[in-house]
Amino acid sequence: MMFSERMKRLLSYTPGEQPQDRKYLKLNTNENPYPPSPLIKSVLDRFDIERLRLYPDPQCGRLREKLSLRYGLSKNQVFVANGSDEALSFCFYAFFGSEKGKLLFPQITYSFFPVYCSFYNIAYDAVPLNDDFTIDVGKYVEKIGCGVILPNPNAPTGIGLPLEKLAYLLDNYPKERVVVIDEAYVDFGAESAVGLIHKYPNLAVVRTFSKSMGLAGLRLGFVLASETLVSALFTVKDSFNSYPVDTLSQMIGETALSDEAYYRAITKEIISVRKDFSAALLDLGWSVLPSSSNFIFTRKSGLSGEEIYSNLKKQGILVRYFDLEPIKQFVRITIGKKEDMQRVLKTIKEF
Ligand SMILES: *Cc1c(COP(=O)(O)O)cnc(C)c1O
Repeated sequence: MMFSERMKRLLSYTPGEQPQDRKYLKLNTNENPYPPSPLIKSVLDRFDIERLRLYPDPQCGRLREKLSLRYGLSKNQVFVANGSDEALSFCFYAFFGSEKGKLLFPQITYSFFPVYCSFYNIAYDAVPLNDDFTIDVGKYVEKIGCGVILPNPNAPTGIGLPLEKLAYLLDNYPKERVVVIDEAYVDFGAESAVGLIHKYPNLAVVRTFSKSMGLAGLRLGFVLASETLVSALFTVKDSFNSYPVDTLSQMIGETALSDEAYYRAITKEIISVRKDFSAALLDLGWSVLPSSSNFIFTRKSGLSGEEIYSNLKKQGILVRYFDLEPIKQFVRITIGKKEDMQRVLKTIKEF
């Protein structure tokens, strides 16, 4: 056998389709329908390729400095990674381990979490959601385990967790166990936990440039947390790859951060299109979970998620469904531009 025992046990993640054959309206991986900040284009035009001869800054110093100013933290409270998936993976490695009990996360959540558990051999307990798909933090306080990881808003439901519930969890959770909040979609309307970092040294907030910043192709994510947690993440990174974030990504990330007005405008537009699209679906008799993200989770009685998915795909529109109880009936639809969502509505009416 050519493979290790470890390798044979791996359970890998299935990313949303990125078809290369024909042109689809892609509403399946929560990418931003708007281009990244136009400032990035001018920075790239002026880029001196000689800089690529040298290795990038392994500390991502300038980018971390910019992020720290933006979030009112110190530079040593910021860690940068090759996408937030990598940041999450490092968090799993650094903070969670079965010797301290099982890791807790919601039963319906980002499907990469069980994959990291398999990779790092961490036992987990998938905690059921309430019937309305909200998270009951009380269950996490009861079970404790070796740590907690929650997306806020949760994925793929899109439902936000109020900050007071998160504060309740942190107040009642052991200080020597880490709580990770994955805020991939927080800019679209959920309450951020960043303001709680000074109070809870066991809180880590994971963010990405992929969704609200429209830079999924760049692969840039970051963690905001106490210096103690951030320094552990650096140790993990430097045990794996000293240079996961390349020179261009660091530079483009810095540029994106200096165009807040642009990002505020496109985020506002996406939220407004989400509200109109959700209302239109409700009018057509669909159920829509209340979303604080750039996607909605919706169902129509009589149709399975897979049926909705394939009907839309035939018409050149890609969405995502999950062949998993209790969300088999649902599809997750990314919010695109206004005209994109009008096309979806028109197609749905013709089912
Ligand atoms: C998209 C997504 C991420 C991954 O973001 P990258 O920075 O592109 O790796 C992380 N968590 C959740 C919940 C996501 O939906």
